[in-house]
Amino acid sequence: MSAVVTEADRTAEPSPASGPREGAFGNAVALVCRECRHEVGLGPYYACPECFGPLEVSYEFPAITRAEIEAGPRNIWRYQALLPVPTDIESSPNTEPGFTRLLRADNLGRELGIENLWVKDDSTNPTNSFKDRVVACALSAARELGAKVFACPSTGNLANAVAAAGARAGIKTVVFIPSNLEQPKQVNSAIFTENLVAVDGNYDDVNKLASEIAGEEDGWAFVNVNVRPYYAEGSKTLGYEIAEQLGWRLPDQIVIPVASGSQLTKVDKAFQELIKLGLVEDKPYRVFGAQAEGCGPVATAFKADTDAIRPVKPDTIAKSLAIGNPADGIYVLDIARRTGGAVEEVTDEEIREGIVLLARTEGIFTETAGGTTLAVTKKLVETGVLDPTKETVVINTGHGLKTLDAVSGQVRAAATIAPSYAAFKATGI
Ligand SMILES: *Cc1c(COP(=O)(O)O)cnc(C)c1O
Ligand SMILES: [Zn+2]
Repeated sequence: MSAVVTEADRTAEPSPASGPREGAFGNAVALVCRECRHEVGLGPYYACPECFGPLEVSYEFPAITRAEIEAGPRNIWRYQALLPVPTDIESSPNTEPGFTRLLRADNLGRELGIENLWVKDDSTNPTNSFKDRVVACALSAARELGAKVFACPSTGNLANAVAAAGARAGIKTVVFIPSNLEQPKQVNSAIFTENLVAVDGNYDDVNKLASEIAGEEDGWAFVNVNVRPYYAEGSKTLGYEIAEQLGWRLPDQIVIPVASGSQLTKVDKAFQELIKLGLVEDKPYRVFGAQAEGCGPVATAFKADTDAIRPVKPDTIAKSLAIGNPADGIYVLDIARRTGGAVEEVTDEEIREGIVLLARTEGIFTETAGGTTLAVTKKLVETGVLDPTKETVVINTGHGLKTLDAVSGQVRAAATIAPSYAAFKATGI
């Protein structure tokens, strides 16, 4: 199970030198099973030894003020006290994602009939997706646990983020992707690492292979496998930022794309923590999940009103969301139901239209995952599920330059002309 510690570490007499250094995980105190609440110490563990349920980081937070956070750096480390990272994290080599813009989207709002709409634009992170957030936390954990190799199975964006962060940190990286992945996402990894492995199979096959390697090899930190509890906490920063950028207030409604479901569950965790810490006022908010019809196992279960998520074989242009067997799907269902939200799905055609809609109204070029989120938002308004009078945030998780093929047939081709005024006039532009 644990691949980061070596066999020698595991069998050695416990000594202060062999474990993580004091304060390596900040205010985190343990890993807790999300199913049976069994606790284990902070280490390279991800499955509960009692019930094999997923482990999650738990904390003992000191009193934290808004002013202390506001005085921090303009990246995710301003929330260091709320993450499983050391107090000196700012000085470690990392790509420092976060504090991306929260844009008022009045044009888009008018188009969709939503009065008070915001776009949280995570396409401006160092490798142009929200994955830089989770990778920054995973890298910290990997280093504190003494990993020699930084790795991941990925639907594309994660591979880009791992390869880039590893390059800057000077640690060997190995990234695994499905072989049918978009070319720009492949090049975006290969530019940072020599070790890009394309597996003939879908993401779920890639993930299985990664788990096997994690079990066989010592010293490998697979960011979303054996250091997943630390990795996943990085997504909380999206929730913290949205609240802080709204003036320390929670939105009424939020729409989030769902692949494994990790991001959605952590944004909810972030909102809950902010309430508990007294940093925002307690209020009801509704969480909505967005999937593609070609890979919508969580949406299907939500609509069937069941907890049984049936794995699917993905077939959609939204490749970054193409996880047929989502690890956190069940928790996404819990959150959508608890908050009065929903999980909805849209066709590839609607996804393409969603990409164009955001571009034409707000000047933001999103990838297929963002197109999915936009299209689901539109569908939720049209079906009367989302309340158009309530303040709503839509998360754009990635950049359109990585999925150009998805929309190249959607836009008008250039008018190619001779270099003359007459030729220009003839275009009718
Ligand atoms: C990975 C990814 C997601 C979803 O992430 P999960 O936490 O696995 O649900 C959403 N959008 C983009 C662009 C991604 O790369
Ligand atoms: Zn358990």
